[in-house]
Amino acid sequence: MSQTLHEADYYEILDEDNQVIQCKLCPIECTLLREETGKCLARKNIDGKLYSLTYGATDMKIDMIEKQHVYHFLPNSRAQTFSTYNCNLDCDYCTMPDKAFSDPEKYMGKKLAPDQVAMFGMASGSKVICFGEAEPLISFEWFRDSAKLAKDRGLKILLRTNGYFNKEPVEEILEYVDAVTIDIKSISDKGYESNCRRGNFGQIKSIIKLIHEKEKLLELNLVIHEKLGNGVEEARKLADWIKTELSPSVPLHLARLLPAHRLKELSPTSIVLLEESFKAAKDAGLHFVYLDNVPDHDSNNTYCPNCNELLIKRSSTVTELRRISLTGNCNKCETQLNIIFK
Ligand code: SF4
Repeated sequence: MSQTLHEADYYEILDEDNQVIQCKLCPIECTLLREETGKCLARKNIDGKLYSLTYGATDMKIDMIEKQHVYHFLPNSRAQTFSTYNCNLDCDYCTMPDKAFSDPEKYMGKKLAPDQVAMFGMASGSKVICFGEAEPLISFEWFRDSAKLAKDRGLKILLRTNGYFNKEPVEEILEYVDAVTIDIKSISDKGYESNCRRGNFGQIKSIIKLIHEKEKLLELNLVIHEKLGNGVEEARKLADWIKTELSPSVPLHLARLLPAHRLKELSPTSIVLLEESFKAAKDAGLHFVYLDNVPDHDSNNTYCPNCNELLIKRSSTVTELRRISLTGNCNKCETQLNIIFK
């Protein structure tokens, strides 16, 4: 696939004579000797320069935006979704290990240039393009180039990421992004280490704060399961942090863990633990808490935090806008909600 190699941004030359370089895209900051690839397997030192091996590697589909666990950005819209390859984390419960740990040098699938991404987005009639699965920021240059062109053509951009990236590249891409959802794996560094081999919640919190400061629509997601050390107490602590450091109106999704990858034998998270975690996050003062991967549960719906009116009803197949205006206000008490319709 040499014809598709694309020189990467965000790296430093450590030793020109010996062609040693360091990738600066994510906090792992891999030091790479000649011909070495980083931990994500997607960025390689070729003759002393860093190359992205996944530029343009993607699969696409059209889904309702709610399928991306995003409830406050263009509800009930169709989203043209581009999934990417490879990841900088190595989570035990990864739902797409074939993509997340692929060898890009053996990739035989479709590659799309940024202008084709914009074209497919427009042709699909979707208002929004979503980049998610496995980790879109690993294909940083392709993501940025595609998002920029799509945005120029009037499309909205949603990014679904693990958030474990350095500040400078994230600041750059936020220029082209309208909404971000972050999948949090743990609220402790120990949890990241044991569940995903890498990651650092302090670093991820600083990225979350940056996104919030840039006034992008932000939704957060924490997967709940005893095995991961994520339960009622962790939901409460995360909710406290969101309320104090961000805003009580930032939506928090608590996701049911479904057996996958190295945790195939595990039982899914119990509904009791999910409901108790939901209550703890609500009691901490968050306005919008949702349970994910629990279809048709009342916690999928959006209620007005002021008058408790049902605003948006979600089932596994349909999203119904009830008493909410397209300016994002409750139709009963007029409260302005953190929900974007255009
Ligand atoms: S993006 Fe990949 S190559 Fe770069 S530092 Fe992170 S894991 Fe290493």
